Amino acid sequence: MSTKRVYLFHEGDATMRDLLGGKGANLCEMTNIGLPVPPGFVITTDACRESLSLGRLPDGLMDEVRAALAEVEKALDKRLGDPNSPLLVSVRSGSKFSMPGMMDTILNLGLNSATVDSIARLTDNERFAYDAYRRFIMMFSCVVLNIPKAKFEQRFEAMKESLGVHQDTEVGASDLRKLSEEFLRIVQTESGKPFPDDPVKQLEMAVGSVFESWNNERAIIYRRKENIPDALGTACSVQAMVFGNMGDDCGTGVAFTRDVATGENALYGEFLVNAQGEDVVAGIRTPLKIAELRDKMPEIYQQFVEIGQRLEQHYRDVMDLEFTIEKGRLFMLQCRVGKRTGPAAVRIAVEMANDGLISREEAILRVEPNRLNELLHPRIDLSKGERPIAKGLPASPGAASGVCVFNSHRAEEMGKGQPLILVRQETNPDDIRGMLVSKGILTQRGGMTSHAAVVARGFGVPCVAGCEAINVDEDSDTMTAGSKTFKEGDWITIDGSSGAVYAGQIPTVAAEISGQMATLLGWADGFRRLGVRANADNPTDAARAVEFGAEGIGLCRTEHMFFQDRLPIMQHMILAETEDDRRVALAKLLPFQREDFVGIFRAMAAKPVTIRLLDPPLHEFLPQHSELVEEVTELRVRGNDPAKLAEREALLEKVEGMREANPMLGLRGVRLSILFPEIVEVQVTAILEAAIHVQKEGIEVLPEIMIPLVGHVNELKFVREKLEAVVQTVLAQNDARVDYKFGTMIELPRACLTADEIAPYAEFFSFGTNDLTQTTFGFSRDDAEGKFLERYTDQGILPVNPFAELDEAGVGKLVKMTVELGNAANPGIKMGICGEHGGDPASIDFCHRVGLTYVSCSPFRVPIARLAAAQSALRSRVSVTVDK
Ligand code: PEP
Ligand code: MG
Repeated sequence: MSTKRVYLFHEGDATMRDLLGGKGANLCEMTNIGLPVPPGFVITTDACRESLSLGRLPDGLMDEVRAALAEVEKALDKRLGDPNSPLLVSVRSGSKFSMPGMMDTILNLGLNSATVDSIARLTDNERFAYDAYRRFIMMFSCVVLNIPKAKFEQRFEAMKESLGVHQDTEVGASDLRKLSEEFLRIVQTESGKPFPDDPVKQLEMAVGSVFESWNNERAIIYRRKENIPDALGTACSVQAMVFGNMGDDCGTGVAFTRDVATGENALYGEFLVNAQGEDVVAGIRTPLKIAELRDKMPEIYQQFVEIGQRLEQHYRDVMDLEFTIEKGRLFMLQCRVGKRTGPAAVRIAVEMANDGLISREEAILRVEPNRLNELLHPRIDLSKGERPIAKGLPASPGAASGVCVFNSHRAEEMGKGQPLILVRQETNPDDIRGMLVSKGILTQRGGMTSHAAVVARGFGVPCVAGCEAINVDEDSDTMTAGSKTFKEGDWITIDGSSGAVYAGQIPTVAAEISGQMATLLGWADGFRRLGVRANADNPTDAARAVEFGAEGIGLCRTEHMFFQDRLPIMQHMILAETEDDRRVALAKLLPFQREDFVGIFRAMAAKPVTIRLLDPPLHEFLPQHSELVEEVTELRVRGNDPAKLAEREALLEKVEGMREANPMLGLRGVRLSILFPEIVEVQVTAILEAAIHVQKEGIEVLPEIMIPLVGHVNELKFVREKLEAVVQTVLAQNDARVDYKFGTMIELPRACLTADEIAPYAEFFSFGTNDLTQTTFGFSRDDAEGKFLERYTDQGILPVNPFAELDEAGVGKLVKMTVELGNAANPGIKMGICGEHGGDPASIDFCHRVGLTYVSCSPFRVPIARLAAAQSALRSRVSVTVDK
C-alpha cells in the first residue's frame, strides 16, 4: 500500500504544513483542540505533485477520498448526492504558505437537480437552495470547465434588469430557479456537454482543478514575488458546508486577533449577515465591523472572542480567522498566522514579548527585516494643511503619489517608468500584475480583509480600500470625488496609514526611529555580532545614518564631492596639460574637500569613517562624447563663434583621447592614483587636515583611508607608500597625531585569490561586492539588469539577481577564501562589506556566517541591517523556524 494521501481532520495537526498545507494543517489542529470545525479531510500536497506530473489524479486516490468522505457522512448522518439527507462540501486549495485568492476554491459541491430540491425542502427555504445552486453552477463552470464568468454574470444582470431590481438579494426563489436552469443551458452550449450531475464526479473534477490551479498564472506570479518554491504543490481540503446565508441568524466573517494594519491589541475584523464567505473576501459588499457582532449576536461574539484568545495563546501569534454562523451556531472554517504590515509586525512582536507570550529572541525573529522599510517610509506632511478629497479604510500603510490608472492591463503597459496608483472599484486576483507595478492601490469597495487590502499588505504597498466617497467608472476610466473628476494620468496621493486620498502630489516627511521599533532594534543590538555601518558621502547622510544606529561609515565615495559647483574645477584638473597646472586646480579643490570631511567627522564623532580615494574613470566628470560631437558640428555649421568652436574642439579631442572601450575595466580606482598621484595626495591631505581640525574641537576622529580596485599587492604597496609620506608631512606640519588606518577594497577576483599577499599591507579589507559581482560573473553592472538578468531569473537560470543578493556559490566563495587568506596573513585584520549587498538580509546572513566584522549600507537600510544581523546571530545559535 502506498503512503497515505488523505487525512481526516482528526488525523493531522499544525506541524504537518508541508503535507497538508497551512489551511489543512490548521483545520486539523483546531479540530483536535476541540473547536467547532465542520468535519472534513485533506488531500496531501504529495497527491497534488503526483497529479501534476501525471496530468490526472493518481490511481486509487478517489478510493481514499471516498473512504474519508464516508467518515464525514457518518459523522453528520448526511450523504453526498442523497436526496433525503444531502451533504454539501467545499473543496479548497491551501499550500504550505498562504497565497490569498491565487488558487481555486469551489463551494456548495454536491448540489444537482435532485439535491437542490431536497435542500429547499429541508431548510424550508427555496430561495436559499436556488441561490446556492446558481452560485455553484457558476463557480464550478468557471473553475473546472473554464467557461468565462461573464457569460453567467451577464445573464444574471439581464434578469435583474428585466425585474427592475439592483441587488442580488431582491431576486426571488422562482427567478433563481429559472436562472439556474439558464445557467445549465449556458454550460451545455459552451462546453458541448451537460453539467455533471453526479456529485462524486463533481468532487473528482473539483479536486483535479484545485490541484491544477497551483500552476495558474496569478499563482505563479505571486510565488515569484514571495519567493515560494514552485515545487511545493497545494493540498486540497474537503469540508462539510455550513451556511452563513440561510437567514438573519446566519452570517460569515473574517477577523484578526489583533489589528494587522497597526498592531493594536484588539480583535479586528468584518462580517456580513446572511452571506457566504466569498462575499466578504471578494469585496463585493462592504461588510460591518466585528464590534457590531457584539450587538447583533452577543453570545456568538463572546464565544468567538474566547476562541480567538485561545488560538492566539495556542499558536503564540496573531491569528487570521474565518468563521460562519449557521442558524445561531458558530463554526470555525480557517485559522492561520495573520499577515501583517511592517508597523504591525514590530508592535505585535514587542508587545507579545513584553507580555511574556514569546521571548525577545523570538520577537526579533518574527519581523522580516525588509518590512522595517514601511516604518521608514515618508509620511504625508500634515503641516501643509492639505485637505483630503475622500477618506477610505487605512488598509496598508505608507504614503504614495502617482498617476491614476484604472485597470491592471493599462498599468502594466504604462510600466515601471512612472509612479502609478491603481484605482479600481474592487480588485480581484487577476489584478495582481497591475498591483505589482503600482506604488499604491485605491479601491472604492471592499473592507480591510478584501483582496486588495490583503495583497497590498503582503507586498508592503500602500492601500486605501473601501473608499465609498469616490466613484470609479470603469467604462470611462474615470474617478470622481465630489465635484472633481480624475482621468488616467492625473496625479493623486493616498495615505494608507490614515485612509486619506488627496488630489495631486502631496509633500511627505521623513520617518524617525521611535517607539516599538526603537525597542526592537535595541534588543537586536544586544544579540548581533556584526557591526553595522553606513555608506554616506555628506554630513546630512552621515547624521541620518547615526540617527538610524550606524556605528561608523563603511564607505564615503569621494567622487560624489566633485559635482555641482566643484565640477568646473574638477574639469580644469582633468584637462590640465601639465602636473603643475593640475596642482593649481587641485589646490582649489582642497578646501572644499576639507570642509566636506570636517562635516562628516563631526557628525560621526568617535566613530570610524572609511573614506575611499577617487575611483571612477575621469571621463565621468566631463561632458559626454556624443553631446560634444553634436555641439561642435553645430558650431561648425553656424560658423559665427570661432573662439567657442576652438575651445569645444580642444575639449572633444581630450575626451576622445580619454575614451575607453571598457571604462569599468579601464583607468579607474588605484590605477588613477598610480598615474596621477597628485590627485589622491590632495585627498589624503584634506582628510588629515580635516581630522586634525575636528580633533582640535575635542571630537575624536577615526579616519580609514581606502584604496579602491586593487588587483595586485604592488599597486597597494606603491600607492600606500606615497600616501603614508603625505600623512606624515601633514601631521608634522600641524604637530598632531591622528589614529588613522590604510586599507583596501576587495572587488576584483585577483585580489581575493592573492589576499594573503595583500593583507600585510592593509589594516582593513572592504568587499566591494558590486564590482566583485561584476568581475566574477563578467556581467556589466550597468547593463546586465536592464538587458538580460530579468530573463535569467524568470527562467530560473539564476535563482535571484546577483547584484541584489550575494551569489554565495561563486562570489561568496571568493569572499570566504579572502577572509581565510587575509586572516592567516594578517591576524585580526578588520573586514567589512560596502557593496549594495551590505543592506540585503540574505547577504547579511552570509556575511555573519563567513565572519566579517561589519556590513555597510545606505542610511535607510541601517535599521534593516541591524535586525538582519541579530537574526543571523540568533539563527546560528538556535534553530527556530519563522512563519512566513
Ligand atoms: C562596490 O564595487 O561594491 C563598491 C562599493 O564600489 P562602487 O559601487 O562605488 O564601485
Ligand atoms: Mg567598486
